[in-house]
Amino acid sequence: MRFAPREPSKEGAVKLGALLFFALIEGAMRDLFSLDRHLTDAERSLARTTRAFVDHTFRPLVNDAWERGYFPRELPKAIGALGLIGCNLQGYGCADLGDVAYGVACRELERGDSGLRSFVSVQSSLVLWPIHTYGSDEQKNRWIPGLQSGELVGCFGLTEPDAGSNPSAMTTAAERIDGGWILRGEKRWLTNGTIADVGLIWAKAEGTVRGFLVPLADANIERRTLGPKLSLRASESAAITFHDVRLNDDALLPGVKGMKGPLSCLTQARYGIGWGVLGAAEECLDIATEYTTKRCQFDGKPLASHQLVQAKLAEMWTSLTASQMFALELGRHKSAGTLEPAQVSMVKRHNVHAALQTARTARELLGGNGILLEYRVMRHAANLETVHTYEGTHDVHTLVLGQEATGIAAYS
Ligand SMILES: Cc1cc2nc3c(=O)[nH]c(=O)nc-3n(C[C@H](O)[C@H](O)[C@H](O)COP(=O)(O)OP(=O)(O)OC[C@H]3O[C@@H](n4cnc5c(N)ncnc54)[C@H](O)[C@@H]3O)c2cc1C
Repeated sequence: MRFAPREPSKEGAVKLGALLFFALIEGAMRDLFSLDRHLTDAERSLARTTRAFVDHTFRPLVNDAWERGYFPRELPKAIGALGLIGCNLQGYGCADLGDVAYGVACRELERGDSGLRSFVSVQSSLVLWPIHTYGSDEQKNRWIPGLQSGELVGCFGLTEPDAGSNPSAMTTAAERIDGGWILRGEKRWLTNGTIADVGLIWAKAEGTVRGFLVPLADANIERRTLGPKLSLRASESAAITFHDVRLNDDALLPGVKGMKGPLSCLTQARYGIGWGVLGAAEECLDIATEYTTKRCQFDGKPLASHQLVQAKLAEMWTSLTASQMFALELGRHKSAGTLEPAQVSMVKRHNVHAALQTARTARELLGGNGILLEYRVMRHAANLETVHTYEGTHDVHTLVLGQEATGIAAYS
């Protein structure tokens, strides 16, 4: 579909059946700065494959999953079979397609739902990446092939009931014993935590923060689903309590110590978010554009013929285009090895906020239909409330940038 305004309809109000409406959506906002021109053939091909997967496999599942609040159990292996998990990593079955390709895949996944992209972000950036980067050869051989193929599911435990924006205040601790460790504490908000086989759990050990690969099928591990949630409903979040869990020596991730460990993982995941939210915003803008060019009110004119509506569409399109350029530039830096955490903070903060505003405006432009699940925009808006909060809240990233700009930390 093109962004150019349609001929105003001479007919009266048009009743839009949802089926007809979605048959009309071709889903291609005009790419004014030619984002796609900057992609390689391999990246474009991955985008097409991922979009086809989302359209044919995920879309038939998402409304039920979102309404009833679960992550469809058939998806991990299906996503793994596409080669998307850890597709920017090399070896152990990973596809080695590069960072922009990974970003492009996240964009297509989040066009489907932020929960779907969150599954891949956690699995790829928060579990696979740290094992790949900081793990022993034995850990890599044990965990990566299964995680990459979706045979195994992983989760990431940093947040605690009393340590969210300031994770260094964590109280989960690992005590050294002969031949291993005893893990005690509680983690909260672990995405995939209800279905995961293994958790990368961050704990204080011998005075510093360390990562532990914890097999979750253990009688001393208690998991409970958090909810019901009003956002990211097609993704499962867990609280996990570790009651004196015995870990062998080989559970410890040897290659990193201190907060650098979890924070470097978050940098990877925030990169994927910066790209992913483009998909949610693009879908909302496409839907709002299509809807307002078809829906007529006042003298048979389409909503899109009114200046107030055009102003909203122009704002959504501009902020989306700025976000696309940001994501592409971030991808170039990551590929070149020049990525800085402050760049990631800026893009996560900007792109998520822009996508959330776009989704809210799309919801508004669809009037009453905007709150129906079948019109998708409110699902995206509700999901993006979580994306605004997790992986560093909007305001925490503001403080990161404030510190970068002034040299003054304003967290406490
Ligand atoms: C659906 C979902 C999935 C998640 N998945 C994971 C996961 O897989 N693994 C994981 O470890 N965590 C996960 N999280 C946790 C997430 O990262 C935290 O919710 C987030 O870091 C914020 O922490 P908090 O909720 O404790 O909020 P708080 O830290 O209590 O913050 C509450 C509010 O206060 C503001 N605030 C905090 N500090 C300051 C300050 N110094 N100055 C000004 N304002 C401040 C915040 O911006 C926010 O608006 C998830 C969260 C959600 C909702």
